[in-house]
Amino acid sequence: MNRWEKAQPLSSALSQALARVTPVSESEEIPVSDAYGRVLAEEIFSPWDLPGFVRATMDGYAVRAQDTLNASREQPAILKVIGSVEMGQDPQTLPALQEFEAMEITTGGPLPPNADAVVMLEETERLSDSVKVFVPVKPGEHLLAADSDFQRGERVFYAGHRLRAVDIGALIALGRESVRVFQRVRVGVLSTGSELVSEGEPPPGKIRETNSYVLRGLIEAQSAQARCYPIVPDEKRSLRIAIERAVHENDFVLLSGGSSVGARDWTLEILQELGEVVVHGLQIRPGKPTLFALVAHKPVVGLPGNPVSCALVFEKFARPLIAKRSGVRVLLPSHRLVPARLLSRIESVKGREDFVAVRLKLDEETGALFAEPIYGHTNNISTLVRADGIVSVPADLEKIEAGLPVWVELL
Ligand code: AMP
Ligand code: MG
Repeated sequence: MNRWEKAQPLSSALSQALARVTPVSESEEIPVSDAYGRVLAEEIFSPWDLPGFVRATMDGYAVRAQDTLNASREQPAILKVIGSVEMGQDPQTLPALQEFEAMEITTGGPLPPNADAVVMLEETERLSDSVKVFVPVKPGEHLLAADSDFQRGERVFYAGHRLRAVDIGALIALGRESVRVFQRVRVGVLSTGSELVSEGEPPPGKIRETNSYVLRGLIEAQSAQARCYPIVPDEKRSLRIAIERAVHENDFVLLSGGSSVGARDWTLEILQELGEVVVHGLQIRPGKPTLFALVAHKPVVGLPGNPVSCALVFEKFARPLIAKRSGVRVLLPSHRLVPARLLSRIESVKGREDFVAVRLKLDEETGALFAEPIYGHTNNISTLVRADGIVSVPADLEKIEAGLPVWVELL
């Protein structure tokens, strides 16, 4: 019997798995300045109008629009200049404009009372204590309303939003010092394989364990917490004990290795004994021997041990699951795509989505980008190290010809 006959397309596997992942419930209050990348556990409303006062968007003169009615080059409006607005000045301390009065103002300055527009400096000519205005302005022209940024009571963020750098700026602008965020998801990382060594020069026949280090970086980029456990040999009892412990001590568990064909691969058997296996194989290459299970209601992903497959399946499959577990409500792709032309043909197989590492080449004269496929074994991490990105060949295509446009997902 084919061990992977239950393998399914990535998209359906992912939606089945996502449906079984619940967000962590614990939250904590942390300083806004530490909240980058964290997921909000509260809705955020604006406590006030922002910027809170009317601001000029041009250098020029604050005026009453009605005083500039019918102004032209030939027949300018002549307004008395009663002063100049300083940046940062409290608008309450400014004199209210009376008929045919104006104040000098610079971009960002607060409008004095009664002023309802700004005339651009370029449309004026200064006399000693007055100014000629050559164009009429409408009320509201060249200014930002007091609630143009946020309106008092407006919902700015929903719970489940992952905070980006600009969001931190907005929270500070709204006067927040701390926010309630979901606790970082604790992700246990278990590497299995009797061929692996964790330190020192590997003896002949052994290899250095690298996946847990790669995974740690990928996990931390999700603002989750990685906890890497000692290497587990391909031995059923030790692996079972290690999995039970990792599940107990974490919110999410990643297993690397031990999910492919081979008498020594116990992961599937153990997960079936301990919980429910939901996904058993993906119709992708690399990355077919991927498992998803629930053990004690906690998500467990079995990643292939091959370093290339491991990193790729993390990105394609585990990352969104960790995001959901972290409380993220709307899952968006994290990748950046750049368009390029394929330099040589990529062969694939129908019924399976293929991911091919590519290096990008820039034609300096035209600025055009080209993608050159890199073929290396999935066991060799150098394949990804030499690559700038990944091209996906959808399941319904057998090949992509050289010269065709492709999207490259940057690594
Ligand atoms: P497996 O999925 O256990 O069959 O592993 C496939 C291959 O990936 C192994 O033969 C190793 O060469 C490599 N491998 C497995 N686990 C790791 C690891 N943690 N770090 C580096 N390479 C690994
Ligand atoms: Mg193995």
